[in-house]
Amino acid sequence: MTLDTTKNTDKEYIVLCPVDGKPAPWVENKEKYGRNFGKSYMCYYCKEHDTYVGCHNNTRVPLGSMAGEELRKARMAVHAKIDPMWKSGRLRRGEVYRIITLKLGYVYHTGESDLETCNKILAMEIAYE
Ligand SMILES: [Zn+2]
Repeated sequence: MTLDTTKNTDKEYIVLCPVDGKPAPWVENKEKYGRNFGKSYMCYYCKEHDTYVGCHNNTRVPLGSMAGEELRKARMAVHAKIDPMWKSGRLRRGEVYRIITLKLGYVYHTGESDLETCNKILAMEIAYE
């Protein structure tokens, strides 16, 4: 798995569009949605390829790697599957991620995962064996 997020300094990030491999502009998400959504509305967005990633609290720090529509939906589906497991208190958050990491065989972050990884997690039974 390759990360296309390169940390430059604390304030400058180069976030690459996965389609053209070019640095995406850091913009408000109204560029994509027509009006700003959420408290943290700064994002990296390639208008040409509709790839997008949000940022932490309106900083330049990206939440993961840029993704197109299909991958964004898959990542959202992963969150919809795993977040209730720890939000309900059934498992601790770290435990959920540990089980997934053991089953995948590599450490993952939902925000940086590719479609293949998302699909594996969506098909996975997440429980202690
Ligand atoms: Zn692009």
